[in-house]
Amino acid sequence: HLVPRNGYAPLNSDFDSFYTRRLKTRMDECFSQPVTGVAGRTIMLLDRISPDYNHTQILTGTRTRALNISSYNYLGFAQARGGCADAVEEVIRRYGVSTCGARLEGGSSDLHTVTEALVANFVGMEDAMISSMGFATNSALIPALVGKGCLVISDELNHASIRFGTRLSGANVRMFKHNDMGSLEALLREVISQGQPKTHRPWKKILVIVEGLYSMEGTLANIPVILELKKKYKFYLFVDEAHSIGALGPHGRGVADYFNIPPRSIDILMGTFTKSFGAAGGYIAGTKSLIDRVRLRGHLGPYAEAMTPPVLTQVLASMASIMGVSPPLPPLDGGEGVVTTSGTYVHPGPAPASSLPNWLTLPYALASGTEGRTRLRRLAFNSRYLHNGLIKLGFITYGHPSSPIVPLLLFNPGKMNMFHRMMKDRKTPIIVVVVAYPATPLVTSRVRFCVSAAHTKEDVDVVLRACDEVGDVLDLKHGIGRG
Ligand code: PMP
Repeated sequence: HLVPRNGYAPLNSDFDSFYTRRLKTRMDECFSQPVTGVAGRTIMLLDRISPDYNHTQILTGTRTRALNISSYNYLGFAQARGGCADAVEEVIRRYGVSTCGARLEGGSSDLHTVTEALVANFVGMEDAMISSMGFATNSALIPALVGKGCLVISDELNHASIRFGTRLSGANVRMFKHNDMGSLEALLREVISQGQPKTHRPWKKILVIVEGLYSMEGTLANIPVILELKKKYKFYLFVDEAHSIGALGPHGRGVADYFNIPPRSIDILMGTFTKSFGAAGGYIAGTKSLIDRVRLRGHLGPYAEAMTPPVLTQVLASMASIMGVSPPLPPLDGGEGVVTTSGTYVHPGPAPASSLPNWLTLPYALASGTEGRTRLRRLAFNSRYLHNGLIKLGFITYGHPSSPIVPLLLFNPGKMNMFHRMMKDRKTPIIVVVVAYPATPLVTSRVRFCVSAAHTKEDVDVVLRACDEVGDVLDLKHGIGRG
């Protein structure tokens, strides 16, 4: 079926040929597991009765509750009741579910302004712009920062959205070895003629892009060393905090908090709300003049639907909970008004002004509430506990011990399906994510555990016991171990 017909190849030829022809195994079984309900500590799996399961099977098929160690629910804010969910429910009644417009076209509500101010304060920057999709925050907004004549220096394992954005920008792109500061410095030395950095730079701007915490590796960017290099070679620094914001640092404020450095020593902080905040969308934060320019020049302002009110509220409520402040919800606008029996329209008028703090002018005060502290401590404990437990059992893992992303190496992509199924078929079913090419090199196919503050120590013990048994069957324990 791969032979081009009528002079052209079938649309699905690339992916299809790799996974179904070369590996000769039904790889799709371990991907796209159908689920229902909240992606919390546990999750409800829908039985995939046949490969082409349909809506009737979804409604009538068997359901299995599994321990969920696969979702990005780092702080456990994915919940359907209580906490953030109550505030979200209230806002849907006031604002509905959609803005029905782009930010520059009627889609900028008070909720957007308040959220942007809170985000700027949380990450310690002057201003922030939010958008309805994390992927698009990189892919559509990096072109507003750099263009032709600029050079982007990118970690070789940067996320697809970064690679997409840098290519779209028209800037030249060079890559350095993953997290290898020697490789970054060698590249900087090569592209900047030393001794006369200001006069002999062939580039309008040089932007170095790294991730705070790498999503497939669990590695932490060496921000202190990158900042030293920044002083020496004078470049701009962009850090994607999709996985580190909310998850790292004693106050959950990401890499700056973790390394105890001033956030404004970094030029651009980008992040997403999909992970630690149990929401969706992304942000980009920097100086006020830069963010003003991105708002106008980036393609998201005029061309993309603004972040929706329920999602904004989830961001506000979860972030406020981490910071230990009450959710800064704007006051009621008085409702839509009513038409009386005599046909006159009565508008209730504006609500009284609120006494909300102006988050944009508040100092960056590192604080976290009791709730936030508890969640952060639990996440940090669970991350280390799983990581160390797997190493003790003799597995080869990647990543920093503080990382809630814990990759366990399978090496052979043929073992992905087996690992996934054996974990799922246990008495206490466990759902895991397995990743391989093209997200990782083929030979380092892996299981990627995502730990959550919602997990208990006993949950992690259940995962470790299961890995121990499955690891023996699949011959995965090639590490030195520390048992
Ligand atoms: N940046 C990084 C580093 C990511 O890992 C991801 C997605 N996991 C994104 C950006 C895109 O974010 P989103 O899924 O919120 O669109």
